[in-house]
This record gives sequence, C-alpha cells and structure tokens, in this order.
Amino acid sequence: MKLCAKCQKNSVFESKETALCKGHFNEYIFGKASKVLKKYADKKSKILLALSGGKDSVCCFYILSRLGYDFTPVYLDFNFNEKNLRFIKKLSDKFKKEIIILKSSDYGIEIKKIMDKKSGSNPCVICSTARRYILNDYGVKNNFEMISTGHNLTDAINQALNNMKNNFLLGFKNITPFLKPQKEKKLLGRIKPLYLATDNEIKFFMEMNDIPYFKGKCPYFKGFFFKKYINDIEKKDKDILIKMAYSLSNFSSVIEKTKNDIFISDKLCKICGYPSSGDTCSFCKITKY
Ligand SMILES: [Zn+2]
Ligand SMILES: [Zn+2]
Repeated sequence: MKLCAKCQKNSVFESKETALCKGHFNEYIFGKASKVLKKYADKKSKILLALSGGKDSVCCFYILSRLGYDFTPVYLDFNFNEKNLRFIKKLSDKFKKEIIILKSSDYGIEIKKIMDKKSGSNPCVICSTARRYILNDYGVKNNFEMISTGHNLTDAINQALNNMKNNFLLGFKNITPFLKPQKEKKLLGRIKPLYLATDNEIKFFMEMNDIPYFKGKCPYFKGFFFKKYINDIEKKDKDILIKMAYSLSNFSSVIEKTKNDIFISDKLCKICGYPSSGDTCSFCKITKY
C-alpha cells in the first residue's frame, strides 16, 4: 500500500497520479466541487438541486449542505419507481432537510404513457426533456437562480463523444460547469459542482463516507456507450480528462456566443412561451401532440 502523498498516512485511494488518505481524499473531492461553486455561485445564490437519488445528485446534496449553500432539493416523480421515491423520503429524514417532490401529473402529463405512445423515440430524450422543462418552470416560478445537477467529468466527456457521433454541434453548448441564467428568457442558470470529478471518484467518495444513495437502475436507461473507453483513459492519465473538460467548457462559450447567428433562431414557443429552436418547444411537442 502506498502512503498518502500529503501526510504519509496509509492511503485509501490510489491512482496513477497520486495516493491519498481518507481525509485528503475528501479534501480532494471537496476541492473540486468548491472550485466550481466558488467561481459561479455564492452562499446567497438560490440553488435548486435536481435530485434523483443516484450517487451524483446525492453527492451534490451532501457537498452543498456541508459547504453551507442555500439550496432546495427537488425530486421529480415520474412514477417509474416506488422504491426510488421511498429512498428519497428516507434521505430527507437522514439529512434533516425537506425535499420537494414534483409529479409529472401535476403538469397534466403521464410520462410513462407518452413513452409508450411514442415508442419510436428514445425514452431518455423524452424523460430528460420533461425533467429539464419542469425543473426550470418550477425554479422560475419560485424565484430560484440556478439549477445544480450531478453531472460529472465522465458524463461530460461521454456527452461530447455522443455529440460528435451524432454531428450534434449545438449539444456542446451545455458541456460546461456553468450556464448563466437568462432572466428575460425565463431560463435558470445551470451549475455542475461535480464537473471536475470522475464517475469512479464520486462512487468511491460515497462508499468511503458511507453516504446512502439509490442503487436501482432506471428501467429505460441503456448505459453510456463511451464509458468504458473513458474509464480506460482515466486509468492511464486522468489529467487528459480534466484538460478535455476545460476545452469543452471553452468550446461551450464559443457556441453560446455564435449560436443565434449560425445554429438557431431565437424563438419563443407559441404554446408555452419558453425559448425554443422552432415554433413549438420540444416539451410541448412531446406532451401536446
Ligand atoms: Zn493524507
Ligand atoms: Zn412550449
């Protein structure tokens, strides 16, 4: 066993780059999250935390609590999984913090039925469109500034590779630790505190600190295609992933600046009034037709 590079105690975490004891591994993860949070939010920012119960969002819950941020966790119940909902209720007791539970039926829609009806569409796209829309709508109506999500470094690289595979340039605008709120367009900001931490690091952090999270899988999710390749890069040289994440973030701001000229017109949905690339936004397309 290697010794911690910072204090010479026995290490619990080893990678090619370093070895860390429990205390210093925690410091390492908190440091990554703080780097993002300090840069883009302050302790008075009103943050809505998108909580699914999985390791990444619960990790954000834990870190935001520990660092003393003003945040409200929200769980969207799409009626997929009774066990997941029960877990959320337990988590609320454990963290002694209220978790807002929103149901898609409150929005007059039944996501499961829509997925069955549109069986040719990717269910994950339908679900994530609805999630994004409902969270933003709830946040706008309740005066939040930004939504925190649990997206991590591995997700970011996977998303980038998917965008390349699908020639989806506009998809690069979201691969960044932060998107500014756009009040005039009724769009909340977005923050990803775990943008610099890999999937494996977060999993290890959660296990090591005995933080409970929901381990069940979504019945519709088929896994990330590129994950095993990204894990290989992580084993060989984690810094490559970090460098890629910074490049993606720079690329995102370029897209953000030029998108209105070259990618899409700046329209508002004729049904609900939120920003849309066409006459009708993707949420209304999914739910109203
Ligand atoms: Zn140490
Ligand atoms: Zn709409």
